[in-house]
This record gives sequence, C-alpha cells and structure tokens, in this order.
Amino acid sequence: MTIRLTNTEKKIAKKLTEIKKKSSSHSPSPAMLLSVKGITVKYDFCYLSNPYATELFLKYFNKDTVNSSRFRKLVEYYPSQNRVLAEKLEQTAGVPAKNIFVGNGATEIIQAVLQNFVRKKILVPVPTFSPYLEFVPKGVRAVRHQLFKENQFRLNLNELIAQVRKEKLDAAVIINPNNPDGGQIAFSGFKKLIGSLRNLETVIVDESFIHFSGRKMESVSKLVEKYPNLIVVKSLSKDFGIAGLRLGYAVMSESRVSKLLERGFLWNVSGFGEYFLGLLNRGDFMCEYEKVRLLAVKERDDFFTALSKIPEIKVYPSKANMFLVELRDGSRAQDLMVKLLVEYGIYVRLCADKVGLKGEFVRVASRKKKENNYFIRALVSIFRGV
Ligand SMILES: *Cc1c(COP(=O)(O)O)cnc(C)c1O
Repeated sequence: MTIRLTNTEKKIAKKLTEIKKKSSSHSPSPAMLLSVKGITVKYDFCYLSNPYATELFLKYFNKDTVNSSRFRKLVEYYPSQNRVLAEKLEQTAGVPAKNIFVGNGATEIIQAVLQNFVRKKILVPVPTFSPYLEFVPKGVRAVRHQLFKENQFRLNLNELIAQVRKEKLDAAVIINPNNPDGGQIAFSGFKKLIGSLRNLETVIVDESFIHFSGRKMESVSKLVEKYPNLIVVKSLSKDFGIAGLRLGYAVMSESRVSKLLERGFLWNVSGFGEYFLGLLNRGDFMCEYEKVRLLAVKERDDFFTALSKIPEIKVYPSKANMFLVELRDGSRAQDLMVKLLVEYGIYVRLCADKVGLKGEFVRVASRKKKENNYFIRALVSIFRGV
C-alpha cells in the first residue's frame, strides 16, 4: 500500500523541508538534521563513499602518524606545492605530472575549469552533479541535454553530437559513470565520442566514480595527449572514502595546467591530503585498496539484485556506488524519505531538486553488505505497512 505518514512524521517532514532550503541543491548534512527532534541518522545512505576504503585509510593513518612526530609536522609545516603533489599522482592517473592539476576536492577543479576554459555555451547532460550547472560563470550558457528514464538515463552519443552541432556549442561535459543514476558509456563508443568532439574548445569528462565501474577500469585520461581540448576530472572523495580530506585532480594539457597555476592554487591541498597522496604510491596500501574496491563493487551488484526484487520500486542499473530508485506504487518520495529516517534512522537523498529529473525518486548509496541488507528489510516493511 502507498506510504502514509503519521501526524508526528508530518511535522518532522515540515521541519526537514525548512532545513533543506538552507542547503541549496545539496543535501543537509547529518549534523544539520540533529536539530530535528525525533530523528537520528544511524545509516547515511545519502552521502557517497566506500566505507571500507575509509577504514583502510584510517588504519594506515593511525599507524603512521598518531603518537609520532609526523602528525605534528602535518599540522605545523606547509604542504608541498601543486606541481610536487602532481608527481605523486602520476602512477594513479597514468599520465606525466606536467598534465596533472591537483585540487582541494574536484569541486574546486570544476569551478576553475568552468571559469578559465569555457567561454560561450556548454552542453550539460541532466540530471547531473549540480555544480556543473551552478558554477557556470556569468556570460556562459549551460545548455541542457536531457537524459530519459525510458532509456535508463543512458547517453545517446549520436543525439549528443547532433545537439552540439545544431546549437553551435563550444564546450561539453560528460560524467561517466554519471551521478545521480550511475549510467556508464561503453569505452569504445566513448573514445569515438571524444574524437567527434575534437573541435570544441573544451570537453570535460568527469570520472569520479570510475573505481566503482567494475574489475577493469577504463579511463580516457591518456587521450589528453591526442586531444588537448580534453579535461578529465577525478574526485578522490567517494572511491577512497576521504571526502573530508578534500582531494581531487584533473588531467589536462600542459599549457592549461600552467595557466591555472599562474592564477593561484599554490598550497591548495593540506598536509593531510599530501599524506594520502603518498599512500597511493605504496604497494601495501594499493594492494589492500584493490581488495576493498572490488568488495564495494560486488556488494553494489548484490544490492542491485535485492532492490530489483521489490515490486513497489524501479531501480536503475548503476556502475557507480549509488542507485536511483523510482517509486511506482503512487507513494511520494518525500514520504519514503521521512519514514526511513524516523523509523529506521536511514538517510537517503531526495531528488526533488535535481534539474531534469521529474518523478518520485530517491538516490540510495551502496554501503556495507550488512547496512544494505538492513535497508532492504526496512523498505520491505514500509511497503507492507508494518
Ligand atoms: C562528488 C562529486 C564531485 C566532487 O567531489 P569532491 O569531494 O569535490 O572531490 C565531482 N564530480 C562528481 C560527479 C561527483 O559526484
């Protein structure tokens, strides 16, 4: 039966709506929700990360720094400058340091790239990660390219190219796998697409979720050498579970890296971020990371199988660590969100504010197996009305 809120739940729903207004197009943090009486976030299925990777990081961080002079040094001294940090990313990015720009989170890079390398009209497929729409500078137009749920939000490459030509766009962004739906474009077609867009001034590809894509990870970073208009953006927040450290990088032409560095970004990454970049070059860490990466991929796929069996919802296939879930029994997404929070302490992302996404949707992160199973049980109980 469709979800019905109790009177108490309705009051809580109202308060949540007020809080949401204060956090623009992003979700209120669990800390902000603490101010609402009657709810506690026990399981955060809103924010996206690999929890196993967070634990792995903490294991190394504690061993290496706690109770040692190293911790003091991280706090007391300046970290290395951007170009030095870029060297620490060569192995991970698979390109020379001269092509790597390091950011205080990928969001900082998105701002910098939009402000410096996009001049007139940029194509943005929607629904999308909202900064690509919000941080477009004055004088630049973001032209939406609609992804349709009937096509499982998959990008149709020919339609995209046709729109770029018809509307005389000079830039485009493609998130692969996409946020919020997790749809991925097959590698061979994607390479061709980038070739077809070689005459644009700038093509931004965001591969922030690529570590969740599967056993094999296929990045287009190396194509920057062939196509200097290409910029590949990569957040390290989600797949390494370190959003609080603020780290991301982008692969771009050497001259573009220089251009950005002439304008600042000298010490934009903290000592803690630099410590993490060091881990990326350690065999022991990377060997353990590969295990938790594949574990997250497997449990994501198991979560999909379980979600797919619930008749009241439609779940869209995803190669990222989240699922777009559509209610198809007439229930409202807001009501589901409130029920999950009040009765089960589960926090999901309401999608009402996502540009280009109409309907009753929530976005659900894939977490650890135990938590995913708890989520499934909660959902089943809610739909049964018990
Ligand atoms: C989360 C996200 C980012 C930004 O992450 P940072 O924490 O700023 O590194 C960039 N792109 C996409 C697609 C994202 O989902």
